[in-house]
Amino acid sequence: MSGRYDIAGLKARLGGIRVEENPALVRQKSRDFFWYSPRLKRQLDGVTGDIVVSPSSEQEVVATLASAYELGIPVTPRGTGTGNYGQAMPLSGGIVLDLSGFAGVKSVQSGRVVAEPGAVLSAIDAVTRPQSGQELRLHPSTYHTASVGGFVAGGSGGVGSIRWGGLRDFGNILRLRVATMEATPRLLTIEGEDLHKVSHAYGTNGIITEVEMPLAPAYGWLDVIVGFSSLEAAAAFANALGEQDGLLLKNLAVVGAPVPHDYFPRHRKFIPRDSHVAIVTVADFALGPMLAFTGRWKGAQVLFRQDTTSAEDLKGLPPGFELAWNHTTLRALRVDPSITYLQVLYPFPNQVKLVAAIHERFGDELPAHLEFVRFDGKITCFGLPLVRFTSEERLVEIMRIHEEMGAVIFDPHRYTLEEGGMKQTDDVQLAFKKEADPRGLLNPGKMIAWEDPAYDYKSGKTYLFKGLGETAG
Ligand SMILES: Cc1cc2nc3c(=O)[nH]c(=O)nc-3n(C[C@H](O)[C@H](O)[C@H](O)COP(=O)(O)OP(=O)(O)OC[C@H]3O[C@@H](n4cnc5c(N)ncnc54)[C@H](O)[C@@H]3O)c2cc1C
Repeated sequence: MSGRYDIAGLKARLGGIRVEENPALVRQKSRDFFWYSPRLKRQLDGVTGDIVVSPSSEQEVVATLASAYELGIPVTPRGTGTGNYGQAMPLSGGIVLDLSGFAGVKSVQSGRVVAEPGAVLSAIDAVTRPQSGQELRLHPSTYHTASVGGFVAGGSGGVGSIRWGGLRDFGNILRLRVATMEATPRLLTIEGEDLHKVSHAYGTNGIITEVEMPLAPAYGWLDVIVGFSSLEAAAAFANALGEQDGLLLKNLAVVGAPVPHDYFPRHRKFIPRDSHVAIVTVADFALGPMLAFTGRWKGAQVLFRQDTTSAEDLKGLPPGFELAWNHTTLRALRVDPSITYLQVLYPFPNQVKLVAAIHERFGDELPAHLEFVRFDGKITCFGLPLVRFTSEERLVEIMRIHEEMGAVIFDPHRYTLEEGGMKQTDDVQLAFKKEADPRGLLNPGKMIAWEDPAYDYKSGKTYLFKGLGETAG
């Protein structure tokens, strides 16, 4: 691999900017959580960059990009590498641009915070809470490890989405500053409609050097787990709870039996093996009304309340949101490494019935996991069901059956933007790449529309980036 690019020339140009060339450390920083997927694990396990460059300021980012452009070296940005689809993996080798040390919080105002891209989400709140009584509206369940730049470029939503919708919804990102990949990189301010050019573009068309995110009041949040004897009952309850306009919730997940008992070891003693659960994170002042609402539901059993659990029993318990989103899969994988997962949208308004029908069809091969969110003003749910994996062929078949039954799959076993998303070209992101990365050096291989404009998304074939063979060898 090394020898493909002029790394010595690069280092000579970078002056005092921190670099790392130790192959073991470079390999470590060339990986993310791609191994959630057996298919991506097979395809990407050998991927590694040539050098890690760790800028700590905007000037250092710009200097790195200018040198890389001059020498034709690919640059793959990286926050903290918690993405699940190989987003931050350098398929063509070259530079891993590690932004985790460029991580300051620059200003906090009423309703907004400005931060550098490498700032970890919980570290941002650690500044905004004491200063202003505010916190980020949305964060992934990797709150304590993920960077805000990585969330904007690679994430989609998460904790807070039951109130605020998805990350790409208007208002959930206020402003970005983006460095282009040109001989003399430009620094662009991106706002309003233009945010769609770079949010969730996997860093293929610009490097985010500053983010401005909206803030919400920071309340105390409490976890409650409610058990049900059927998945459909748990899902119907969660849907109705999400629709209660007066109850302020931060997260609302449903996990089907026997997952909570089998894979949430620290919560096991609270949850019978046959319980399908709703995991609710509610504002402390809304707990009483939320329990009153729950009391109306026949068959609802409150299994766990954070406020009444003894200090002894609370010791070591993860927060509710770390049982949700992609943490559910992570916890299952820790117990049973053969497990994988899917990402499903059950179209509104028949989401609860469709969830019940799909899970009835697959039984224990597909343990249920739903995340309730506000989607275009309506409460609905996404699915992150676990899959008891047997073969890649069966995985494809399970996805096909979902689609035949009326669900939409966002395939988490693909490394390209398009295949993991809407399976079509995003013209806005492509146009911006032509302008901001004319040589195609940013995160190569992730945007099919750039690599192979004639690609047929309906062909049913997996897109294979040609450059991958050379790195993954
Ligand atoms: C256990 C677990 C739970 C998760 N839960 C959620 C969840 O609830 N919601 C969710 O949306 N995701 C979730 N994820 C995925 C991931 O954690 C988030 O998307 C996270 O925000 C990524 O941040 P990061 O710093 O790790 O980004 P990375 O993985 O380092 O990067 C993500 C993408 O952004 C690009 N990038 C990074 N920094 C920049 C920059 N400054 N400029 C341009 N491009 C950049 C990278 O090239 C890559 O394509 C989860 C993952 C795991 C393993």
